[in-house]
Amino acid sequence: MVTVVLGNTLSFTQDVTAKQFAESEKAIVSVLGDLSRIALFSSELDDLQQYLDRVAVDPRVQTIYVGDSQKTVVVSTDFSLVGKPVPALSNSEQSFWRTAELGSYGSIAVEFSNQGLQQATEQAARRGIALALSGMGTIALAGVFFGYLLTRRLTVLTDVTRKFAEGNLDVRANLKGSDEVASVGMTFDAMAFKITQDIRELEKRQTELQAARDELEHRVEERTAELNKANKKLQELSEIDTLTRLPNRRRFDDAIVEALAEAEYHREPVTLAVLDIDHFKKLNDELGHFEGDVCLQKVASAIKSCASRPKDMVARYGGEEFVMILPSTNGAQAVRVLEKVRKEVEKLSAPDRKISISIGYCTVENGNISVEQFFRQADDALYKAKEGGRNRVERY
Ligand code: GH3
Ligand code: MG
Ligand code: MG
Repeated sequence: MVTVVLGNTLSFTQDVTAKQFAESEKAIVSVLGDLSRIALFSSELDDLQQYLDRVAVDPRVQTIYVGDSQKTVVVSTDFSLVGKPVPALSNSEQSFWRTAELGSYGSIAVEFSNQGLQQATEQAARRGIALALSGMGTIALAGVFFGYLLTRRLTVLTDVTRKFAEGNLDVRANLKGSDEVASVGMTFDAMAFKITQDIRELEKRQTELQAARDELEHRVEERTAELNKANKKLQELSEIDTLTRLPNRRRFDDAIVEALAEAEYHREPVTLAVLDIDHFKKLNDELGHFEGDVCLQKVASAIKSCASRPKDMVARYGGEEFVMILPSTNGAQAVRVLEKVRKEVEKLSAPDRKISISIGYCTVENGNISVEQFFRQADDALYKAKEGGRNRVERY
Protein backbone atom coordinates (compact mmCIF):
# COMPACT_ATOMS: atom_id res chain seq x y z
CA MET A 1 0.00 0.00 0.00
CA VAL A 2 2.87 2.33 0.89
CA THR A 3 4.44 1.63 -2.53
CA VAL A 4 1.20 2.37 -4.30
CA VAL A 5 0.67 5.62 -2.38
CA LEU A 6 4.26 6.76 -2.95
CA GLY A 7 4.20 5.74 -6.59
CA ASN A 8 1.01 7.68 -7.13
CA THR A 9 2.39 10.67 -5.23
CA LEU A 10 5.62 10.72 -7.33
CA SER A 11 3.87 10.39 -10.63
CA PHE A 12 1.45 13.10 -9.57
CA THR A 13 4.18 15.54 -8.52
CA GLN A 14 6.13 14.79 -11.72
CA ASP A 15 3.11 15.57 -13.81
CA VAL A 16 2.41 18.79 -11.94
CA THR A 17 6.05 19.98 -12.15
CA ALA A 18 6.34 19.12 -15.86
CA LYS A 19 3.17 21.04 -16.54
CA GLN A 20 4.37 24.06 -14.59
CA PHE A 21 7.71 23.99 -16.46
CA ALA A 22 6.03 23.69 -19.81
CA GLU A 23 3.80 26.68 -18.95
CA SER A 24 6.75 28.87 -17.94
CA GLU A 25 8.80 27.76 -20.99
CA LYS A 26 5.97 28.66 -23.29
CA ALA A 27 5.67 32.03 -21.55
CA ILE A 28 9.41 32.67 -21.96
CA VAL A 29 9.30 31.78 -25.66
CA SER A 30 6.17 33.87 -26.17
CA VAL A 31 7.61 36.98 -24.45
CA LEU A 32 10.95 36.61 -26.23
CA GLY A 33 9.07 36.14 -29.49
CA ASP A 34 7.21 39.44 -29.01
CA LEU A 35 10.43 41.27 -28.11
CA SER A 36 12.23 39.74 -31.12
CA ARG A 37 9.45 40.78 -33.46
CA ILE A 38 9.73 44.38 -32.24
CA ALA A 39 13.54 44.26 -32.41
CA LEU A 40 13.51 42.85 -35.95
CA PHE A 41 10.99 45.43 -36.99
CA SER A 42 13.01 48.33 -35.51
CA SER A 43 16.42 46.76 -36.22
CA GLU A 44 17.46 47.36 -32.58
CA LEU A 45 19.16 44.05 -32.28
CA ASP A 46 21.64 45.11 -29.54
CA ASP A 47 18.89 45.61 -27.00
CA LEU A 48 17.50 42.23 -27.92
CA GLN A 49 20.95 40.66 -27.48
CA GLN A 50 21.23 42.10 -23.94
CA TYR A 51 17.81 40.91 -23.10
CA LEU A 52 18.52 37.39 -24.36
CA ASP A 53 21.72 37.29 -22.27
CA ARG A 54 19.81 38.21 -19.17
CA VAL A 55 17.23 35.51 -19.85
CA ALA A 56 20.00 32.99 -20.45
CA VAL A 57 21.09 33.41 -16.81
CA ASP A 58 18.20 31.10 -15.95
CA PRO A 59 19.88 27.66 -15.52
CA ARG A 60 17.19 26.01 -17.54
CA VAL A 61 17.85 28.18 -20.60
CA GLN A 62 20.82 26.86 -22.66
CA THR A 63 20.77 28.64 -25.99
CA ILE A 64 18.56 31.24 -27.66
CA TYR A 65 18.70 32.40 -31.21
CA VAL A 66 16.57 34.63 -33.38
CA GLY A 67 16.51 34.12 -37.16
CA ASP A 68 15.42 36.75 -39.68
CA SER A 69 13.19 36.32 -42.67
CA GLN A 70 16.22 35.03 -44.65
CA LYS A 71 16.59 32.23 -42.04
CA THR A 72 19.91 33.68 -40.93
CA VAL A 73 20.72 33.90 -37.23
CA VAL A 74 20.81 37.58 -36.31
CA VAL A 75 20.92 37.46 -32.51
CA SER A 76 21.98 34.54 -30.27
CA THR A 77 23.36 33.75 -26.84
CA ASP A 78 25.83 31.59 -28.77
CA PHE A 79 27.86 34.12 -30.80
CA SER A 80 29.25 31.40 -33.08
CA LEU A 81 25.77 31.05 -34.59
CA VAL A 82 25.31 34.75 -35.55
CA GLY A 83 25.42 35.31 -39.30
CA LYS A 84 25.01 31.64 -40.03
CA PRO A 85 21.88 29.93 -41.38
CA VAL A 86 19.34 28.89 -38.80
CA PRO A 87 20.59 25.48 -37.57
CA ALA A 88 18.61 22.30 -37.65
CA LEU A 89 17.19 21.70 -34.18
CA SER A 90 17.51 18.38 -32.44
CA ASN A 91 16.38 17.43 -28.90
CA SER A 92 18.60 15.30 -26.68
CA GLU A 93 18.42 13.72 -23.23
CA GLN A 94 19.97 16.83 -21.75
CA SER A 95 17.93 19.45 -23.57
CA PHE A 96 15.08 20.24 -25.91
CA TRP A 97 13.99 23.14 -28.12
CA ARG A 98 10.95 25.32 -28.09
CA THR A 99 10.37 27.54 -31.10
CA ALA A 100 7.99 30.23 -32.25
CA GLU A 101 7.35 31.67 -35.71
CA LEU A 102 7.48 35.48 -35.83
CA GLY A 103 5.34 35.88 -38.91
CA SER A 104 7.21 37.49 -41.80
CA TYR A 105 9.99 38.67 -39.47
CA GLY A 106 11.58 35.30 -38.87
CA SER A 107 11.64 32.84 -35.98
CA ILE A 108 12.95 32.30 -32.48
CA ALA A 109 14.23 29.09 -30.87
CA VAL A 110 15.05 28.52 -27.18
CA GLU A 111 16.94 25.48 -25.95
CA PHE A 112 15.87 24.40 -22.44
CA SER A 113 17.80 22.08 -20.16
CA ASN A 114 16.05 18.95 -18.86
CA GLN A 115 18.09 19.16 -15.68
CA GLY A 116 15.89 21.85 -14.17
CA LEU A 117 12.83 19.72 -14.58
CA GLN A 118 14.62 16.71 -13.05
CA GLN A 119 15.82 18.74 -10.02
CA ALA A 120 12.44 20.30 -9.53
CA THR A 121 10.76 16.90 -9.87
CA GLU A 122 13.09 15.33 -7.31
CA GLN A 123 12.50 18.21 -4.93
CA ALA A 124 8.78 18.03 -5.45
CA ALA A 125 8.93 14.24 -5.04
CA ARG A 126 10.71 14.66 -1.71
CA ARG A 127 8.03 17.08 -0.61
CA GLY A 128 5.41 14.70 -1.99
CA ILE A 129 6.84 11.72 -0.06
CA ALA A 130 6.89 13.73 3.14
CA LEU A 131 3.36 14.84 2.45
CA ALA A 132 2.28 11.31 1.56
CA LEU A 133 3.87 9.86 4.70
CA SER A 134 2.23 12.41 6.96
CA GLY A 135 -1.02 11.85 5.05
CA MET A 136 -0.69 8.13 5.57
CA GLY A 137 -0.11 8.67 9.27
CA THR A 138 -3.28 10.70 9.45
CA ILE A 139 -5.11 8.08 7.41
CA ALA A 140 -3.83 5.34 9.72
CA LEU A 141 -5.10 7.24 12.76
CA ALA A 142 -8.40 7.93 11.04
CA GLY A 143 -8.50 4.24 10.11
CA VAL A 144 -8.11 3.19 13.73
CA PHE A 145 -10.80 5.65 14.79
CA PHE A 146 -13.22 4.70 12.04
CA GLY A 147 -12.38 1.04 12.62
CA TYR A 148 -13.44 1.48 16.24
CA LEU A 149 -16.64 3.23 15.16
CA LEU A 150 -17.29 0.57 12.53
CA THR A 151 -16.71 -2.28 15.00
CA ARG A 152 -19.04 -0.67 17.51
CA ARG A 153 -21.78 -0.23 14.91
CA LEU A 154 -21.27 -3.75 13.62
CA THR A 155 -21.55 -5.03 17.21
CA VAL A 156 -24.86 -3.16 17.55
CA LEU A 157 -26.01 -4.72 14.28
CA THR A 158 -24.92 -8.25 15.30
CA ASP A 159 -26.52 -7.80 18.71
CA VAL A 160 -29.94 -6.73 17.41
CA THR A 161 -29.89 -9.41 14.71
CA ARG A 162 -29.23 -12.11 17.34
CA LYS A 163 -31.90 -10.75 19.72
CA PHE A 164 -34.40 -10.51 16.88
CA ALA A 165 -33.65 -14.12 15.88
CA GLU A 166 -34.24 -15.14 19.52
CA GLY A 167 -37.76 -13.69 19.27
CA ASN A 168 -37.35 -10.17 20.64
CA LEU A 169 -39.30 -8.52 17.84
CA ASP A 170 -39.04 -4.95 19.21
CA VAL A 171 -35.25 -4.53 18.93
CA ARG A 172 -33.98 -2.10 16.27
CA ALA A 173 -30.44 -1.06 15.25
CA ASN A 174 -31.31 2.68 15.01
CA LEU A 175 -28.00 3.40 13.22
CA LYS A 176 -27.71 6.94 11.87
CA GLY A 177 -25.53 8.07 8.98
CA SER A 178 -25.08 7.51 5.28
CA ASP A 179 -22.38 4.81 5.29
CA GLU A 180 -22.87 1.17 4.34
CA VAL A 181 -23.23 -0.05 7.95
CA ALA A 182 -25.92 2.55 8.63
CA SER A 183 -27.56 1.53 5.37
CA VAL A 184 -27.51 -2.16 6.43
CA GLY A 185 -28.85 -1.11 9.86
CA MET A 186 -31.71 0.85 8.29
CA THR A 187 -32.48 -2.03 5.94
CA PHE A 188 -32.49 -4.38 8.96
CA ASP A 189 -34.83 -2.04 10.88
CA ALA A 190 -37.20 -1.83 7.90
CA MET A 191 -37.09 -5.60 7.48
CA ALA A 192 -37.58 -6.19 11.23
CA PHE A 193 -40.55 -3.77 11.22
CA LYS A 194 -42.12 -5.60 8.27
CA ILE A 195 -41.49 -9.05 9.78
CA THR A 196 -42.87 -7.89 13.15
CA GLN A 197 -45.97 -6.53 11.44
CA ASP A 198 -46.41 -9.77 9.51
CA ILE A 199 -45.93 -11.90 12.64
CA ARG A 200 -48.43 -9.77 14.62
CA GLU A 201 -50.89 -10.02 11.74
CA LEU A 202 -50.31 -13.78 11.62
CA GLU A 203 -50.83 -14.09 15.39
CA LYS A 204 -54.03 -12.06 15.10
CA ARG A 205 -55.25 -14.29 12.30
CA GLN A 206 -54.32 -17.41 14.28
CA THR A 207 -56.32 -16.13 17.27
CA GLU A 208 -59.27 -15.36 15.00
CA LEU A 209 -58.89 -18.74 13.37
CA GLN A 210 -58.78 -20.47 16.76
CA ALA A 211 -61.89 -18.54 17.87
CA ALA A 212 -63.64 -19.50 14.64
CA ARG A 213 -62.55 -23.12 15.13
CA ASP A 214 -63.82 -23.10 18.75
CA GLU A 215 -67.08 -21.55 17.60
CA LEU A 216 -67.36 -24.17 14.87
CA GLU A 217 -66.60 -26.99 17.31
CA HIS A 218 -69.17 -25.57 19.70
CA ARG A 219 -71.73 -25.44 16.91
CA VAL A 220 -70.83 -28.93 15.75
CA GLU A 221 -71.27 -30.17 19.35
CA GLU A 222 -74.60 -28.38 19.58
CA ARG A 223 -75.70 -29.76 16.24
CA THR A 224 -74.51 -33.24 17.17
CA ALA A 225 -76.49 -33.04 20.41
CA GLU A 226 -79.55 -31.82 18.49
CA LEU A 227 -79.05 -34.54 15.92
CA ASN A 228 -78.68 -37.20 18.61
CA LYS A 229 -81.82 -35.89 20.25
CA ALA A 230 -83.66 -35.91 16.92
CA ASN A 231 -82.35 -39.40 16.16
CA LYS A 232 -83.45 -40.61 19.57
CA LYS A 233 -86.85 -39.04 18.97
CA LEU A 234 -87.00 -40.63 15.53
CA GLN A 235 -85.98 -43.95 17.01
CA GLU A 236 -88.68 -43.63 19.64
CA LEU A 237 -91.23 -42.60 17.05
CA SER A 238 -90.27 -45.49 14.85
CA GLU A 239 -90.93 -47.79 17.77
CA ILE A 240 -94.27 -46.26 18.83
CA ASP A 241 -97.63 -47.26 17.43
CA THR A 242 -99.34 -44.10 16.24
CA LEU A 243 -102.89 -45.22 17.09
CA THR A 244 -102.48 -46.51 20.63
CA ARG A 245 -99.22 -44.70 21.55
CA LEU A 246 -97.90 -48.07 22.78
CA PRO A 247 -94.52 -49.49 21.74
CA ASN A 248 -94.90 -51.31 18.43
CA ARG A 249 -93.84 -54.73 17.18
CA ARG A 250 -90.32 -53.48 16.35
CA ARG A 251 -89.75 -52.37 19.96
CA PHE A 252 -91.26 -55.57 21.28
CA ASP A 253 -88.89 -57.69 19.16
CA ASP A 254 -85.90 -56.09 20.89
CA ALA A 255 -87.52 -56.01 24.35
CA ILE A 256 -88.33 -59.70 24.43
CA VAL A 257 -84.70 -60.60 23.62
CA GLU A 258 -83.51 -58.31 26.43
CA ALA A 259 -86.10 -59.68 28.89
CA LEU A 260 -85.06 -63.29 28.22
CA ALA A 261 -81.37 -62.40 28.59
CA GLU A 262 -82.06 -60.60 31.87
CA ALA A 263 -84.13 -63.51 33.21
CA GLU A 264 -81.40 -65.95 32.26
CA TYR A 265 -78.70 -63.79 33.82
CA HIS A 266 -80.60 -63.26 37.10
CA ARG A 267 -82.15 -66.75 37.02
CA GLU A 268 -85.58 -65.27 37.41
CA PRO A 269 -88.94 -66.17 35.90
CA VAL A 270 -90.36 -64.12 33.04
CA THR A 271 -93.88 -64.14 31.57
CA LEU A 272 -95.01 -63.37 28.06
CA ALA A 273 -98.72 -62.83 27.35
CA VAL A 274 -100.46 -62.48 23.97
CA LEU A 275 -103.81 -60.65 24.11
CA ASP A 276 -106.41 -60.56 21.32
CA ILE A 277 -109.70 -58.63 21.26
CA ASP A 278 -112.66 -60.93 20.77
CA HIS A 279 -114.82 -60.66 17.67
CA PHE A 280 -113.13 -57.49 16.61
CA LYS A 281 -113.79 -58.09 12.94
CA LYS A 282 -117.49 -58.06 13.70
CA LEU A 283 -117.20 -54.81 15.65
CA ASN A 284 -115.26 -53.24 12.78
CA ASP A 285 -117.67 -54.45 10.20
CA GLU A 286 -120.79 -53.38 12.11
CA LEU A 287 -119.64 -50.13 13.72
CA GLY A 288 -117.00 -49.05 11.22
CA HIS A 289 -113.27 -48.61 11.45
CA PHE A 290 -113.50 -45.42 13.45
CA GLU A 291 -115.25 -47.22 16.31
CA GLY A 292 -112.78 -50.05 15.82
CA ASP A 293 -109.89 -47.62 16.32
CA VAL A 294 -111.52 -46.11 19.39
CA CYS A 295 -111.95 -49.61 20.79
CA LEU A 296 -108.28 -50.35 20.13
CA GLN A 297 -107.25 -47.19 22.02
CA LYS A 298 -109.45 -48.01 25.01
CA VAL A 299 -108.18 -51.57 25.24
CA ALA A 300 -104.57 -50.35 24.94
CA SER A 301 -105.10 -47.98 27.88
CA ALA A 302 -106.76 -50.68 29.97
CA ILE A 303 -103.92 -53.13 29.44
CA LYS A 304 -101.35 -50.42 30.12
CA SER A 305 -103.03 -49.48 33.39
CA CYS A 306 -102.49 -53.01 34.70
CA ALA A 307 -98.76 -53.08 33.94
CA SER A 308 -97.78 -51.58 37.29
CA ARG A 309 -94.06 -52.44 37.50
CA PRO A 310 -91.58 -50.18 35.79
CA LYS A 311 -90.05 -53.06 33.85
CA ASP A 312 -93.46 -54.39 32.66
CA MET A 313 -93.98 -53.78 28.98
CA VAL A 314 -97.14 -53.56 26.86
CA ALA A 315 -96.90 -53.40 23.06
CA ARG A 316 -99.26 -53.52 20.13
CA TYR A 317 -98.17 -56.58 18.24
CA GLY A 318 -100.38 -55.91 15.20
CA GLY A 319 -104.07 -55.63 14.32
CA GLU A 320 -106.10 -56.10 17.47
CA GLU A 321 -103.36 -58.12 19.17
CA PHE A 322 -101.24 -56.94 22.11
CA VAL A 323 -98.35 -58.44 24.04
CA MET A 324 -97.19 -58.05 27.65
CA ILE A 325 -93.72 -58.82 28.97
CA LEU A 326 -93.72 -59.25 32.74
CA PRO A 327 -90.15 -59.66 34.04
CA SER A 328 -89.52 -61.33 37.42
CA THR A 329 -93.08 -62.66 37.28
CA ASN A 330 -93.94 -66.29 37.88
CA GLY A 331 -97.14 -68.04 36.69
CA ALA A 332 -99.21 -67.30 39.80
CA GLN A 333 -98.26 -63.62 39.77
CA ALA A 334 -98.87 -63.48 36.03
CA VAL A 335 -102.38 -64.87 36.21
CA ARG A 336 -103.31 -62.22 38.76
CA VAL A 337 -102.09 -59.41 36.52
CA LEU A 338 -103.67 -60.87 33.39
CA GLU A 339 -107.02 -61.52 35.08
CA LYS A 340 -106.96 -57.92 36.13
CA VAL A 341 -106.40 -56.94 32.49
CA ARG A 342 -109.25 -59.13 31.33
CA LYS A 343 -111.57 -57.58 33.91
CA GLU A 344 -110.52 -54.04 33.00
CA VAL A 345 -111.28 -54.71 29.34
CA GLU A 346 -114.54 -56.29 30.31
CA LYS A 347 -115.55 -52.95 31.79
CA LEU A 348 -115.16 -51.34 28.37
CA SER A 349 -117.85 -51.04 25.80
CA ALA A 350 -118.45 -49.96 22.21
CA PRO A 351 -121.65 -48.01 21.31
CA ASP A 352 -123.87 -51.09 21.31
CA ARG A 353 -121.81 -53.89 22.83
CA LYS A 354 -119.43 -55.07 25.47
CA ILE A 355 -115.76 -55.58 24.71
CA SER A 356 -113.72 -58.56 25.82
CA ILE A 357 -110.26 -59.93 25.37
CA SER A 358 -108.69 -63.40 25.33
CA ILE A 359 -105.25 -63.89 26.86
CA GLY A 360 -102.73 -66.68 26.51
CA TYR A 361 -99.49 -66.64 28.46
CA CYS A 362 -96.33 -68.57 29.05
CA THR A 363 -93.99 -68.33 32.04
CA VAL A 364 -90.41 -69.64 31.93
CA GLU A 365 -88.39 -69.95 35.13
CA ASN A 366 -84.99 -68.69 33.97
CA GLY A 367 -85.34 -67.31 30.46
CA ASN A 368 -83.75 -70.38 28.97
CA ILE A 369 -85.93 -70.52 25.83
CA SER A 370 -85.78 -69.12 22.33
CA VAL A 371 -87.87 -66.05 21.49
CA GLU A 372 -89.73 -67.94 18.79
CA GLN A 373 -90.65 -70.81 21.08
CA PHE A 374 -91.58 -68.51 23.92
CA PHE A 375 -93.94 -66.60 21.63
CA ARG A 376 -95.38 -69.72 20.02
CA GLN A 377 -96.20 -71.19 23.43
CA ALA A 378 -97.94 -68.01 24.57
CA ASP A 379 -99.81 -67.86 21.23
CA ASP A 380 -100.85 -71.51 21.68
CA ALA A 381 -102.31 -70.58 25.05
CA LEU A 382 -104.21 -67.72 23.38
CA TYR A 383 -105.58 -70.12 20.83
CA LYS A 384 -106.71 -72.27 23.78
CA ALA A 385 -108.46 -69.27 25.34
CA LYS A 386 -110.26 -68.52 22.08
CA GLU A 387 -111.25 -72.12 21.77
CA GLY A 388 -112.35 -72.22 25.39
CA GLY A 389 -114.98 -69.54 24.67
CA ARG A 390 -112.98 -66.28 24.69
CA ASN A 391 -112.85 -63.61 27.45
CA ARG A 392 -110.49 -65.78 29.48
CA VAL A 393 -106.88 -66.25 30.53
CA GLU A 394 -105.06 -69.46 29.61
CA ARG A 395 -101.61 -70.63 30.58
CA TYR A 396 -99.41 -72.64 28.22
P1 GH3 B 1 -111.38 -63.47 17.28
O1 GH3 B 1 -112.36 -63.27 18.35
O2 GH3 B 1 -111.28 -64.88 16.88
O3 GH3 B 1 -110.11 -62.84 17.55
O4 GH3 B 1 -112.04 -62.77 16.03
P2 GH3 B 1 -111.61 -61.43 15.44
O5 GH3 B 1 -112.66 -60.90 14.57
O6 GH3 B 1 -111.18 -60.50 16.50
O7 GH3 B 1 -110.32 -61.78 14.63
P3 GH3 B 1 -109.93 -61.56 13.13
O8 GH3 B 1 -108.49 -61.85 13.00
O9 GH3 B 1 -110.84 -62.34 12.27
O10 GH3 B 1 -110.20 -60.03 12.88
C1 GH3 B 1 -109.29 -59.01 13.28
C2 GH3 B 1 -109.78 -57.75 12.69
O11 GH3 B 1 -109.13 -56.64 13.24
C3 GH3 B 1 -109.53 -57.64 11.20
C4 GH3 B 1 -109.30 -56.20 10.94
O12 GH3 B 1 -110.27 -55.60 10.21
C5 GH3 B 1 -109.25 -55.59 12.31
N1 GH3 B 1 -108.16 -54.71 12.45
C6 GH3 B 1 -106.83 -55.00 12.46
N2 GH3 B 1 -106.09 -53.85 12.66
C7 GH3 B 1 -107.01 -52.83 12.81
C8 GH3 B 1 -106.87 -51.43 13.05
O13 GH3 B 1 -105.80 -50.89 13.17
N3 GH3 B 1 -108.04 -50.71 13.16
C9 GH3 B 1 -109.25 -51.24 13.01
N4 GH3 B 1 -110.35 -50.53 13.12
N5 GH3 B 1 -109.36 -52.55 12.77
C10 GH3 B 1 -108.29 -53.35 12.67
MG1 MG C 1 -106.38 -61.48 15.98
MG1 MG D 1 -109.48 -60.95 17.59
